Formats: sequence, C-alpha cells, structure tokens
Amino acid sequence: MSLDIKVVVKSLENIVGPEYVATEREICYVYSQDCSIEKGYIPDIIIRPNTTEEVSEVMKLANEYKVPIYPRGAAASLVLMGVPLKPHSLVMDLTRMNRIVEFDEESMSVTVETGITWGELELALKEKGWYTGFIGPGPGYSSTIGGAISVCSVYYGSAKYGTAADITLGLEVVLPTGEIIRTGSAALEKAKRHTRYGIGFDATGLFCGDQGILGVKTQATLKLFPLPKAIGFFTFGYEDLDTCHKALYQMAALHIASDLGYVDQIKVPMGPRKYRYLIHGKIESHSDEEFTAQMNLFKEIAKKTNGEDLGPSLGKLLFGDMVYEYFPMAGAFGNYGATCNKVPIAQAKVLHEKFMALQEKYEEEIKKYNILTVWYTFISGSCIDILPQFQIPVDNPESLEFGRKIWKEFIDKEVREEGCIHYWLGKVIGDRVAECYQPSYYEFVKRIKSALDPNRILNPGLLKLW
Ligand SMILES: Cc1cc2nc3c(=O)[nH]c(=O)nc-3n(C[C@H](O)[C@H](O)[C@H](O)COP(=O)(O)OP(=O)(O)OC[C@H]3O[C@@H](n4cnc5c(N)ncnc54)[C@H](O)[C@@H]3O)c2cc1C
Repeated sequence: MSLDIKVVVKSLENIVGPEYVATEREICYVYSQDCSIEKGYIPDIIIRPNTTEEVSEVMKLANEYKVPIYPRGAAASLVLMGVPLKPHSLVMDLTRMNRIVEFDEESMSVTVETGITWGELELALKEKGWYTGFIGPGPGYSSTIGGAISVCSVYYGSAKYGTAADITLGLEVVLPTGEIIRTGSAALEKAKRHTRYGIGFDATGLFCGDQGILGVKTQATLKLFPLPKAIGFFTFGYEDLDTCHKALYQMAALHIASDLGYVDQIKVPMGPRKYRYLIHGKIESHSDEEFTAQMNLFKEIAKKTNGEDLGPSLGKLLFGDMVYEYFPMAGAFGNYGATCNKVPIAQAKVLHEKFMALQEKYEEEIKKYNILTVWYTFISGSCIDILPQFQIPVDNPESLEFGRKIWKEFIDKEVREEGCIHYWLGKVIGDRVAECYQPSYYEFVKRIKSALDPNRILNPGLLKLW
C-alpha cells in the first residue's frame, strides 16, 4: 500500500490529540498480540480515541486512505483477534472510553462506553445495589464490555443470565463508513434506552457476536438486576461421567443456578479429590427461604443420582470471593491453547471421548513437552460450554510447535466433525467456521459486510473476509 503515513498520522493527531497517537515500534509491537500463542502483524499506528465523534472521524479518514482498522478492547482473546491480520494497519484502542454514561434505575438499565471493563462496572454498580446478572468472562478485570459483546462472551452468571448479548438492550455503533447509529429503542428520537425490541428487526443482534467486523461499538445499554441477598455454593462428586451429565442436565434445566458446570480432575485436581468429576456452582436468591428451597432442589437431584454433597468447596473457589482472579491471563503452566464451544449437554460425552483419545494418541509428546491438559465446562443458558485446554510452555519452541499442532487438531475435530459452536472465533477458529458455513449463509454474511464496509477496512481477515 502506498500510504503516506506522515499525512495520516497528522490527520489522526488533529482528531484525537498528538498524545493519543503512537507509531513507536515498541508500542506498536505490543499491539500485535492478544493472549493466544499466535501473533498478528505489527500495526503502523495506534490511536486511543476519547469520544464517539472521534471514532467516527477516524473511520472516515481510514476510508479515505483505505487503512485497515482493528478495534481493540483488552485483547484478552485466545484466538488471534483485536490485533492486525493485515500489514500497514491501525489499531484503535478503546480503553479510554470507559465512562458510565447513564445509570437509569427507573428503566433498570445502565449505559456505558464500551471500553469500560467488567470489573470497573461491577464495582460501580455494587455501590448502588445493582449488577448486570451476567458479569463478564473469565478475565473480567481487564476485558471490556465492547469486546465481550463483539464475541457474545459467557461465564460469570451465564447459567441463569446467558451471554453478554442477552443482557444487551441496545448499542451505539460507528459504522465502518463513519455514520453513528443507535439500536434498540434509542433508534427512535424520543425514546429512552429501555428495550431492545419493537422498532423493527433486531439491529442490536446484528452487531452482537459480529467479532467487530460490522462496526465499532461505542456505547452499550445493559440490563440491571438488584444484587441478590442470599448467595451460596455447591459441589457434588461423581465417579461416572454419564451420571454426572445426567445430573447436570437436570440441574441446568431448572435455570436456577447463576453458575453451574463440571470438571474432570483426571489430569488436574481442582477440588476434593475423592471423585473424578465435580459438579459445582453458585445460587443467588432474594431471601434465605428462597435460597434454601433452591439449594434443596439441587441436593435432591444429587442424591437421586448418587452424587456426594461436598459442600461449597470448588463452587466457592471458582465463583466466590475470587471472581475474575481465578483466571490468570496465561495458564498456570504455560499459555493457553484453548477452545470454548457450545453443544447440547448430551453431546458433551462425544467431545470428552475425543479429547481423551487425542491425549492417548500423543501421550509421549504431551509428557515430553510438558503440556498440561484441562477439561473444564460450564452451563450457559440451555447449552454446555466446553473449554478443553492445552497449557503450553511457550519458552520452549518445540513445545510451542507441538502445542500449536495438537490445539488446532482438536479445533478441527470440534468444528469440522462435531459442528461445535464457538463464539470467540478470531482468526484461528473463525477461518474454520467460515469454511463450514452453509454456502448461502456465507453469501449473506458477505453481502452484509460489503454493504456496511464497502472499502473493507474494519477487521479485515476475520471470517476469511478479505
Ligand atoms: C484467561 C482467559 C480466560 C477467558 N475466559 C473467558 C470466558 O470465561 N468467557 C469468554 O467469553 N471469554 C473468555 N476469554 C476470552 C476473552 O477474554 C473474552 O471473550 C473477552 O470478552 C474479550 O474482551 P476484550 O475486551 O479482551 O476484547 P478484544 O480481545 O480486545 O476484542 C475481541 C474482538 O472484538 C473486537 N472489538 C473489541 N472491542 C470492540 C468494540 N468496542 N467495537 C467493535 N469491535 C470490538 C475486536 O476487534 C476483536 O475482534 C478468556 C480469555 C483469557 C485470556
């Protein structure tokens, strides 16, 4: 690309101020990475806008010069995203846009700028006696609301409240060509931002999980729920996987627990070691009576399925005081080669068998390269999210190479053989998903992308789109 970088930088400085434009190699290098074991291109320019209008001006400029733009929240992703997938690009770091715009108790909603982290929002809301139900993904201390909505994040609170998209009432979006729109009820000049539906098609949904390819989200309105008054945790031990899945299904179907999942402790013990499989989670209620009744329902299911009640233990460790802190940005034994995919609970067993078979196939290498394998799951809505991990010591190039191979081999099994639904797609998983779309669906995606982003400047390279 014959880009006069000095002219572009000068124009960007005029928009956001010189102190928020960087071209130094050291700074740009940092922005070539997320938390995965892969690397993107080193961008030419970093900018840190402060307002929606600045974002809009930057998008118009990028169209003029045809510069690829990669919006970035915390880049706490595990599949190469929020980083350049094309050379000579610009990264737009949105973390300066971290204000709470409107706390609206009356319509039980909060509007925030999308660069705010889940941790910042959670703390601010707690003081007022509210929370968002779903309170963010694993790295919530650093990951942003904008990043989470862009990938439909799940985890804390997902068993009851679903994904980041499910608590989103509306968005403010800067389209790739620079126009600013509001979705949900705010699309109407006089309306408040109190509901998502009723103004025609669900435009908010178009941008949820779009991986940031259709627009830059600058504000989001989220649902509010009063803080629960009674909270408790549970852990039940099972020796047999089928029974564990059966019990988990019955517990998930109640849609009572805010957090619910199970772990296989065969490689990494995480809780009481007496049992291989541990169902664990959290119940949040509005009174002690309600809490006791709900907890009893779980205990009854465990009793009927021969699960042993192990008290709060693992449930409390994962969803208690250490909320967010349990997930370091890199794994305990190396960087993550992780996937996370949604399947019906009944399909979990097939994936478990495939994960175990892969470990058997590469038993020697896994040992030699000191790779740790973890089988972790959690419920989101009616699905189970399966998060198999290879923790890879990246300081040894041979371990890294082998880790990369085994990680991608498993992704192929998940996406191509099992049709697993990943939500954070990035380059690594997104390429495979794009190859598995129904042809007519992929055409539809391309048509929407072309209509909104005629110069193909926003997040190019994701979903194999240009
Ligand atoms: C240790 C660890 C644990 C994790 N656990 C979970 C988990 O439990 N659940 C889960 O869902 N994920 C998890 N993740 C993945 C990831 O952290 C989350 O999905 C997170 O929500 C990403 O947010 P972010 O701010 O880091 O977004 P980024 O990585 O910066 O961006 C993600 C994508 O969204 C785009 N984007 C970002 N902000 C905007 C915006 N404002 N407008 C338009 N596009 C934008 C980017 O271009 C990129 O394509 C984990 C990651 C790590 C490292």
